[in-house]
Amino acid sequence: MTANTAIPIAPVEHFINGQYRSSECERFDDLNPATNEPITSVPSGTAADIDAAVRAARDAFDHGPWPRMSAKERGALLHRLGDLIAARANDLAELETLDTGVPISQTRGALIPRAAENFHFFADLAPRLQGELYPVEGEFLNYTTRYPVGVAGLITPWNAPFMLETWKIAPCLAAGNTAVLKPAEWSPLTANALGALAAEAGFPPGVFNVVQGLGETAGAALVAHPGVQLISFTGETSTGREIMRNGATTLKRLSMELGGKSPVIVFPDADLDRALDAVVFGVYSLNGERCTASSRLLLHRDIYDSFAQELSERVRRIRVGDPFDPRTEVGPLIHPEHAARVRQALSRGIAEGAKLAVGGEMLAGPGNFIEPTLFLDATNQMHIAQQEIFGPVLTVIPFSDEAEAIRMANDVRYGLAAYVWTGNIARGHRIASSLESGMVWVNSQNVRDLRTPFGGAKESGIGREGGEHSFHFYCETRTVHIALGEHRIPRFGVET
Ligand code: NAD
Repeated sequence: MTANTAIPIAPVEHFINGQYRSSECERFDDLNPATNEPITSVPSGTAADIDAAVRAARDAFDHGPWPRMSAKERGALLHRLGDLIAARANDLAELETLDTGVPISQTRGALIPRAAENFHFFADLAPRLQGELYPVEGEFLNYTTRYPVGVAGLITPWNAPFMLETWKIAPCLAAGNTAVLKPAEWSPLTANALGALAAEAGFPPGVFNVVQGLGETAGAALVAHPGVQLISFTGETSTGREIMRNGATTLKRLSMELGGKSPVIVFPDADLDRALDAVVFGVYSLNGERCTASSRLLLHRDIYDSFAQELSERVRRIRVGDPFDPRTEVGPLIHPEHAARVRQALSRGIAEGAKLAVGGEMLAGPGNFIEPTLFLDATNQMHIAQQEIFGPVLTVIPFSDEAEAIRMANDVRYGLAAYVWTGNIARGHRIASSLESGMVWVNSQNVRDLRTPFGGAKESGIGREGGEHSFHFYCETRTVHIALGEHRIPRFGVET
């Protein structure tokens, strides 16, 4: 597989107070998932680096223009950054593909354009936010306004790094906060590029900062820092737990976007061709490293054999290979450690007695390439039906009726996304209202409208981001009570 050494890589440094800063800290290698050769080295940010970034962000918040600008003025800079991302989309897509192994057709076609859209969307939304009004006839006018909270710590995963980082940065800054981003250690490159783009767009120094490094050091220092008011985290459920524990001492406001094991339920009356397309794309896109992946297929027994056979043929034909080949559909997994975890899950599925219909092996040669894998005839109790694998692996389970499908769909600790395919719209609504899931798509693949709330139920998360919901998290609400007349005020201390 190609290492794509032709792509120019800027040195990876922290971006603090409007400038790249080299640090005395140790460095680690960033690996190309297609070869496992080092692309470049990354500073392993320390508590001192985090402190410098938080101080810069604090200073920009307390004394700089950012929180005092109008939402429209801030929006103009966010639009400029969105335009710069769109103008450099090709370079950013190449960096992301090099760093993550996500095929170029997906970084170029979806992930990077979505990052630009994040800035445009929240830039337009912030000035239009409305408060609430609670008039008490003749006596009071009560209303709410929003104001920024302070310094936000943004901690993000490696699976769709640029899209997920900008999903947080855009509303956070649009609301008037300042930010310190700690990107995932396995995917530092596009976050590193973002510092320069923010400077070029004209963001005041200290408004947006990046500290590269490991979760247990740089990430933990950000969570523990008393100068940080908010933590927006996307990552594994177990990490989310740890962050909640560590953030408790300084009473952090938290948003948690965590793991998933999302069901896709297919009934015989569905448009089965479209359902098949959505099932395959839903779990094998982004190399299966997708939080909302439809990784558990609940398939009605009446169509089980025929659908499973067509599905097997499609999975067998998925094109695995060089992520820079525009025809590649599945690239390498992010890192050898993650590939080992995915392999372990596959062995467990085989040991548990699920039928390995397709794939199951690593590909020979360098890189973390794994065959798209399909398990049939599984039960919902198996490890491969309960645990998030975060790789190109689909587990298929038969069901007999609606009640059984709902019971199995909900019988999991996660509740991020769910998908239902049926020709009976009443059933679609009925099932949607019975699923313990933050998001449900009926007769649809995962199409996201940026206005809608995004987030998970159960162990998939706490809180919602997206549209106005992002501003509920990134803003304080202030309620103002105005007396219109002379309401009664009890008088103390007037009796002699
Ligand atoms: P992870 O939890 O290992 O790491 C995420 C981030 O947290 C990284 O930046 C890491 O350095 C940091 N981190 C690790 N330990 C930390 C600590 N103690 N304190 C502070 N920060 C710490 O997750 P990952 O492996 O990078 O990503 C995959 C996971 O992310 C999957 O579970 C996936 O479902 C989830 N995810 C969820 C969503 C969502 O929106 N719900 C989206 C994408 C990914």
